[in-house]
Amino acid sequence: MLVCPVCGERSIGKVGIGQYYCKECCLEFVYKKDKLNIYNLQDDGTLIQYVVGEDFDPAIQKTS
Ligand SMILES: [Zn+2]
Repeated sequence: MLVCPVCGERSIGKVGIGQYYCKECCLEFVYKKDKLNIYNLQDDGTLIQYVVGEDFDPAIQKTS
């Protein structure tokens, strides 16, 4: 099951091909092959690249 890689929320919505949106984080995720891009959705609809730290541990990879 796909979950939000930032907060682990399961109720993320699909907004396009390979595109998902987490309403908890107001973040949009775009999967391209093996690469995950995260964007911050602004009030005016603009997508800003969401920069994660080097120690970013995507919740989607957690097993517990
Ligand atoms: Zn989230």
